[in-house]
Parts: sequence; structure tokens; C-alpha cells
Amino acid sequence: KDKEVESQTSEITNWWLVMPKSYTIAVIGAGVSGLCAAREILREGHRVVVFEKSERIGGTWVYDPLTDSDSLFDSGIWRLELSRQAVHGSLYSSLRTNLPRPLMGFSDYPFPSPEDCFSDARAFPAHDEVLAFIEAFASDSGVLNVVRLGAVVVGVARVGNCKNKWTVEWRHVAQVPLTALEKEVFDAVVICNGHHTQPRLAYIPGIEKWPGKQTHSHNYRNPEPFKDQVVVIIGRGSSSHDISREVSKLAKEVHMASRATDFVLGKLNGHDNIWQHLMINHVQEDGLVTFDDGSTVVADVILHCTGYDYSFPFLKGNEIVRIDDNRVEPLFKHIFPPHLAPWISFIGLPNKAIIFLMIELQSRWVAKVLSGKATLPLEEDMIASVKERYVKMEEMQRPVHHTHYIAPDEPEYLNWLASEVGLPPVEEWKQQMYNSVMEYIKSHEDGFRDSTDSSFWISKSTDLVKQSVP
Ligand code: FAD
Repeated sequence: KDKEVESQTSEITNWWLVMPKSYTIAVIGAGVSGLCAAREILREGHRVVVFEKSERIGGTWVYDPLTDSDSLFDSGIWRLELSRQAVHGSLYSSLRTNLPRPLMGFSDYPFPSPEDCFSDARAFPAHDEVLAFIEAFASDSGVLNVVRLGAVVVGVARVGNCKNKWTVEWRHVAQVPLTALEKEVFDAVVICNGHHTQPRLAYIPGIEKWPGKQTHSHNYRNPEPFKDQVVVIIGRGSSSHDISREVSKLAKEVHMASRATDFVLGKLNGHDNIWQHLMINHVQEDGLVTFDDGSTVVADVILHCTGYDYSFPFLKGNEIVRIDDNRVEPLFKHIFPPHLAPWISFIGLPNKAIIFLMIELQSRWVAKVLSGKATLPLEEDMIASVKERYVKMEEMQRPVHHTHYIAPDEPEYLNWLASEVGLPPVEEWKQQMYNSVMEYIKSHEDGFRDSTDSSFWISKSTDLVKQSVP
């Protein structure tokens, strides 16, 4: 009898496995995540519509010379919260990848080798080389046919209490006057709207009365606005590295402020007008900026290179996920809200990894779970796994807003996903190459993209392309 009850229970728990295997699935966003998700969903035999609010595919990799209508330049910090015309892209004109080309492709569709490049053969190419790659990927994989351009999703909600019926509300962006909202029902929704659009700002005591201007790297395109200015740049990631060097060529002085402590304070070696400081302690009405190390400067501009906040405006008012200090919760493996799995999923959330490969593996897993070819643990076990991660983070004293930073566990994360979808573990050389890049980025060494032995960075490119030929 027990066995009978057990089998009935497991049938109910895994009820979606006995459902018909072909679903109609909405994907929100046609950046790398949405395109990859669509390819995997199609491969599994489902129907898919990709909603993309812009008129082009590629997401972040479409360079946009425009910036937000409120660029913060003439406003106090809190003005950012007001409804502003947000530009999606955050690329600056000179941006080159921070990962070398062999780490910018997919397992079965590698980034081209320098010999076969689109326009930039360098080991760390400019952004338009990446966009050309993404466009070729979308075209070759057949997903272009399922992308609906100029279609912005404004709402996602459950149909009644169903977990596997979702209304997607959307409208055509280009139509003036705006047309009425369209509504379509899908079995599942995969959320791929990106997370490099909503600036995350450092709080600075005294900022309300500080007379200078402020902006965020989201609105940085080129150094011209900083000519002859004294600029304070907050942050110590790859954007702050690139932007500080570029701005220093036109600005009077550049002062870098950071919460990190693993660098030498004072003038930066090899530069006449860049200084490194600890974090800003406070700012004053007379324009003075005081750093935690006691140093001071009267500055014209503060440029926040402080990352981005997750934002899902189309989920407002329902109970899919909460966002608490940049922790999107609860999400099993950063992808499935346990109570709604597998009908709602998020692709591309984690930071600090070999991003394109991670997105591919996440997409494969979501598609296979939807097809019943990969199984999820019970809801309570998924919740327990999420909580376990939070406890581990607390023990390691990692801040809540680092929830989706998967370093140093990124090899385990990628290999776990690979094993779930029947792929071998990620090749050792990829992880080694990734670790080497991270070391360079952390060290803030100048010109690492060009000064190191570029044959190391591209060593695998040609092999990869050869291997992928059927
Ligand atoms: P996105 O590329 O942001 O795409 C999201 C898409 O969703 C967009 O097209 C958007 O228009 C659409 N969308 C959003 N909301 C809606 C809606 N409501 N309705 C319809 N459509 C919607 N990664 C690397 O691997 N290497 C690098 O060197 C690298 N450098 C980077 C440098 C910068 C400055 C930034 C900001 C990011 C960088 N990244 C890099 C990370 C990059 O974000 C990822 O590579 C990748 O592009 C993320 O893809 P995505 O599809 O998740 O998001």
C-alpha cells in the first residue's frame, strides 16, 4: 500500500512529466540569453515567441550612442528614482571584451578565430565584433524567425491559479499613438531581459548638498564631457579600469575611490594624473570630497562605476520573485523560483563567470527540464538549497547583493549544469584562461589585453573552430 501511495505522490509531484511534451513558450528579450534560450527550446520541439522591445537583436552588444534622459549630470542622486527614459545599452564607444575570444562563444558555436574574424582580429575584440557574432549565431541557428522585434512586454501574470498558464501583455513600441495592449497566453515564460540597465549607486554622505555633477558608467560613452575636469571615479571593476584610463587623457585629474584595500594608495604608477584612494567618506557643500584614507580633493564630477540593479518591471504586483538588495529570490540555481518551476525561469542572472557558456548551459537546462528530460528536485528541496546558499554566504560574510556573484564556485556551477544536460565538464583550459583574465582585471594592470602574449589568449580559437565543423 505504501508503495502505491508513494508512486501516486511522485506522479503528482512530477505531474508535468506526463503532460504533452510540446509547449508554447514566451521568451522576454533577444540578447544572448533570449537567443540562446530560444535555440534550445526549439531544439526540444517546443514553440517559442521571443519578445524584443528594440528593433535589433543583440541586447547589451548593440552600441547605443544615446544616454538616459536623466544622465544625473545636473541632478541630485535621488532624481534617478523618478521615471526616466531608460536606454538599454551601457557600452562605451571604445569598449573591448574583457574575456578573450575563445571564451566568448558557445560550446557548439565558437567565437571565430582571428583568421575568420568579422572585422577585428584582436584577442580581445571591440564590441561590434561580438554583435556580428551574435547576429551570425541567431541567423545560423534559425531563431530569427521566432523573434518579434519592437514588442515590449509590460506584464506577466498567472492565468487564475494555474502554474502553467501565463498571460503576457505586450505592445508595439513604434506605434504612435500607442496601440492597446495585446495579450497572449503561454505555458511557460523565460525571462532574459538583461541586468545592465538600472544603475546601482553608491550612497555618499552629504551628496544632497554637494554642488558637483554625477553620472554612472551606464551613461558613459566617451571622455569628451570630462575635458579639464577633476573627476572622481567610484569602483574597481573592469569598467572603472577602462574609463579611468580613457578619461585621464582629457581630464585634469582622475581620483579613483574603492571599498577594496588591496592596492597602493596615492599616484598610480605610469600615470601623471590618476590617484587611488579608499572609498569616499563624505562630500561637502564647498565641493570637497573626503576619502576614508583622509585625503581630499575638490572635484567637478563623481562617476559611479558601481554596477547595476536587477529589475523586472513587467513582474510588478505579482508574486514571482522578490528583490532584496539585489538578491532575486527565491531562485533555485539562480534560475527557477521553486514554487513556479519549471514554468517561470530566469537566464543570465549570475555575474563573474564565462558568461556566454553559462548562458548556453542554463538555456539547455531550462529547455530540458521543460521537456521532462531533466528533472527538478521537490519544491521543498529546492527551497532548502536556496536557503543553504544564503547561510553559506552569511558564514563567509558575503553581502546580500553578491548573491548572484558565483565566484569562486563558478566551475562547480557550470559543471553541475553541464552534467544535468548530458555534456562533459567544462574544459580545464577554459577555466584556467578565465582565471588568468580575472587576475589581470583585479591587478588593474594597464593594457593587459594587448601587452600579454596574445597567442596565449587566442591559442584555442583555431582548434575550437575546427572542432565545431560537423
Ligand atoms: P542583454 O544583452 O541586456 O539583453 C536583454 C534584452 O532584453 C535586450 O535586447 C532588451 O532590449 C530586451 N528587453 C528588456 N526588457 C524587455 C521587455 N520588457 N520586453 C521586451 N524586451 C525586453 N560579457 C562577456 O561575456 N564578455 C565581456 O567582455 C562583457 N563585457 C561587458 C561590458 C559591459 C559594459 C556590460 C554592461 C556587460 C558586459 N558583459 C560581458 C556582460 C553582458 O551583459 C553579457 O555578455 C550578455 O550580453 C548578457 O545578455 P542578456 O541577453 O542576458 O542581456
